[in-house]
This record gives sequence, C-alpha cells and structure tokens, in this order.
Amino acid sequence: MTAIRVAHLYPEYLNIYADRGNIAVLARRAEWRGHELRVTPIGLGEPLAPGEYDLVYVGGGQDREQVLVAADLVRKADALHEAVAGGAAVLAVCGGYQLLGRGYRDLQGEDLPGIGLLPLETVAGQRRLIGDALIECELEPGVRRTLAGFENHAGRTRLDPGAEPLGRVLAGFGNDGESGFEGCRAGRVIGTYLHGPLLPRNPWLADTLLAQALAHRLGGEPPQLEPLPDELERLAHEVAAARAYARGGRR
Ligand code: GLN
Repeated sequence: MTAIRVAHLYPEYLNIYADRGNIAVLARRAEWRGHELRVTPIGLGEPLAPGEYDLVYVGGGQDREQVLVAADLVRKADALHEAVAGGAAVLAVCGGYQLLGRGYRDLQGEDLPGIGLLPLETVAGQRRLIGDALIECELEPGVRRTLAGFENHAGRTRLDPGAEPLGRVLAGFGNDGESGFEGCRAGRVIGTYLHGPLLPRNPWLADTLLAQALAHRLGGEPPQLEPLPDELERLAHEVAAARAYARGGRR
C-alpha cells in the first residue's frame, strides 16, 4: 500500500461544477489498486512544502474567486515550480488552469497575476464559451484518446508558440473558440477547461495522473496500473461525447 500525497489548492474557493469530484475519483481508483490517497487542502496563507506532494490539484472558479486567490497563489509560485521540477504531477481546471499561466485579464479588465507554470495567458471575452466539449489527446506518442467534459469560461487562452495543447477540439470551443486546441500540457503539468467533473467520465486520465504520482512517490517510471472494469465510466464518456457532438459549440 502506497500513500499518494495530494495537495488540493483552495478547495473552498476553486470548486465549481463539482470539480472536487475529481479528487473522489482519484481516491477510489487508488484504493481499487491497494493504494491510499492522502489529500491535504491548502488554502489562503497556508504553505506548500515542495517535496511533500506527488500530485497538485486545483479546480475552477468565477472571476471573483480567482481575485481572492491569485495573489496568494503567486506567493506559492516558487514552491509549485520546485514541486514540478521534482517530478510532481499537476491537474488544473479552468480558473485554476488560467492562473497557472502568466496571468488572466478578467471581465472587469483587472489583470490577475499567474505563476507561469504553463506557457500561456488568458484574456476574458464578452461572450462566455459554454457547452459540452470533446477533445482528442495524444499524451503518449501514437496513443489517441478522447476527453469529454463541460466548459463554461469567458477566458480566451492563448498558448505561446511551440507550447503543447492538451488536445485537439473535436466538439466545443476549447482554449479560445478559434485555435481548435484545448488545454495545455508541460511535462506532468496538465491544464484544461473541462469540468464535469472531468475524471469520472475519463478514467484513463485519472490513471495517468495516479501513475505519475506513484512514480514521484516511489521513483522510476510511471507504473502500469491494473485495468479496472470501467463499464459505467465508458458509458458516461459515450453519453458526454454524444452530447458534445450534438450540442457542443461550433468554432
Ligand atoms: N472565471 C474564469 C472564466 O470565466 C474561469 C471560469 C471557470 O473556472 N469555469 O473564464
């Protein structure tokens, strides 16, 4: 039994669309493999010890919540950069994703500082990009898989030239409703606009994060996790994918 240590940033502020459900999925899928997920909520003014976590998770939130946490997140920037340099994995959703970039100019025109963990920046647009979305990812060369979720954001995220998106938009708006890409990936840091929560209907991504976290905890390469009978998850994915094709935004 291995204890996988998770730092959950600002659960009281960044948790819309049941984003905390992602933690529940990680906990259950770890348990089903005989491991334990040890989650530490880290809020405003609370320190983050770089080497003590295998996975960092941050959810989404409205502009007003992002205003409340942005300055505090910047004070944690060095620790987060050090944690990532040490091999910790990161999953950031929507508002949390935006603040991992260099900054977010919100609907009021206020510039919220980001921590520059991801090569991107975001500016809010007038029309919100809302709806079911489906993207195609290739996190391992030659292995294409889809992610299905729900997006609702004013932010238009621009990746730097050469930056790696998380995936290609099959249905929905994605980063900016124009580029045809969604999210961003830099090593073990993943940012996405996909809520839902994301992981219940995309168990392969949950397992990818757990394997990376175990690699950080135990050393070596991410282990191959024992497959689980994901019938319900597969069905949830199919339903969400069909909804995305039927209702997702059109670029
Ligand atoms: N407030 C940000 C935006 O509107 C993020 C929203 C969210 O987390 N769903 O773009």
